[in-house]
Amino acid sequence: GQAVTALGIDFGTSGARAIAIDPEGNVLATARRPLHQPDRPQEWAATLRALILEMPSAIRRQIRRIAIDGTSSTVFLCDAQGQPSSPVLLYNDDRAQDHLQRLRQIVAADHLVLSATSSLVKLLWLQTHYATANVVFLHQADWLAFLLHGQLGISDWHNALKLGYDPAKEAYPDWFSHPILAPLQPLLPQVVPPGTVVGEVTATDLGLSPECQVCAGTTDSIAAFLASGASEVGEAVTSLGSTLVLKLLSTSRVEDLTAGIYSHRLGDRWLVGGASNCGAAILAQFFTPEELERLSVQIDVSQPTGLDYYPLLKRGERFPINDPHLEPRLEPRPNDPRLFLQGLLESLSRIEAQGYAQLQRLGASPLKQVWTAGGGARNPAWLALRQQYLGVPVAISPHTEAAYGTARLAQLNGGTTAPEFPTSAD
Ligand code: ADP
Repeated sequence: GQAVTALGIDFGTSGARAIAIDPEGNVLATARRPLHQPDRPQEWAATLRALILEMPSAIRRQIRRIAIDGTSSTVFLCDAQGQPSSPVLLYNDDRAQDHLQRLRQIVAADHLVLSATSSLVKLLWLQTHYATANVVFLHQADWLAFLLHGQLGISDWHNALKLGYDPAKEAYPDWFSHPILAPLQPLLPQVVPPGTVVGEVTATDLGLSPECQVCAGTTDSIAAFLASGASEVGEAVTSLGSTLVLKLLSTSRVEDLTAGIYSHRLGDRWLVGGASNCGAAILAQFFTPEELERLSVQIDVSQPTGLDYYPLLKRGERFPINDPHLEPRLEPRPNDPRLFLQGLLESLSRIEAQGYAQLQRLGASPLKQVWTAGGGARNPAWLALRQQYLGVPVAISPHTEAAYGTARLAQLNGGTTAPEFPTSAD
């Protein structure tokens, strides 16, 4: 499709953000709002309006597509008018875990939906406690998009993955006809590719153009990947946040669910992801931000320390080593703090390289380029060490905001109109 001015809106774990971009991907305007009660749809709705109204009015009128990302597996039920009719279960809410045993009778032992926080187990819980006639099950991003386009009961491949939707078949699996799950079927959203145009904006009091289209959304972590601009097979994004999160664009789908490795569909490719329990959080245990900055620039990356740590905060790892009993290894500790920091950064770089090697061993496409996001991205010594260990070009992502990635999604993938939507609630 032709590039247009687009608005991406991100509802993340700590707040919400909007970024408007021009057809070339340049940022035109940004806005940010905290979320005080992250489980309150009324606050999300007010925040959505406020973020859009914060865009300068001239830019607002130029916007031709909008998409919204939300936190994965933040879900609830709505009535036929789109009014919430249950509490919101946030991404990390595990109150539904008692329903896991019912699911275990139905799906393969290592299926993604068999987690205490999956969308499907939450749907089972909601159906037990709150279902009445004519309710729909929605993810946060689905509902926020509904507020703009007025179509109820539409989700996207990314949000619907932990609901059990199979994006390879583009269908819900046959096991939804099992007697335990069959009653859920009328509640399931229709699922379309992320970025699909769902409809024109119906909200008339926001100063948006009546031609502005609203697209199906995505999840916050995929949006953060998209922000990097990575689009070729073999490109990857490492997030150096509290934990190390790896995502590699691949022609093949890779799953090793006991190790927490799974793939999201992106167009006709797969975004293969894995997350280590190690990460930059360990650095904050031993160094102040000032020490990190000062010591990092003193590191001589051409002189390896020979230290071999496994810097976990606590016992247990899933990826790249799947061992729930793995102990942190932080010995021997040199007296020189600069050497200790170098040893930690070398070890984290080694674990990142092992992670990409593991994804490729399981069938992902060969690694060609690594983009970097997160709090550790700007550490020059770490960047140089990662370059050595990874053996491919490593660079800082030009953009890391999820809202930017969602704006790009609307801009680039939003060229298609979905075939047929059920008539919305009216
Ligand atoms: P998250 O969102 O996962 O909490 P962030 O992406 O905000 O994490 O990154 C925070 C992490 O970045 C902290 O764990 C901190 O130790 C690390 N960090 C901050 N500054 C530096 C630095 N100069 N070098 C390496 N790591 C850093």
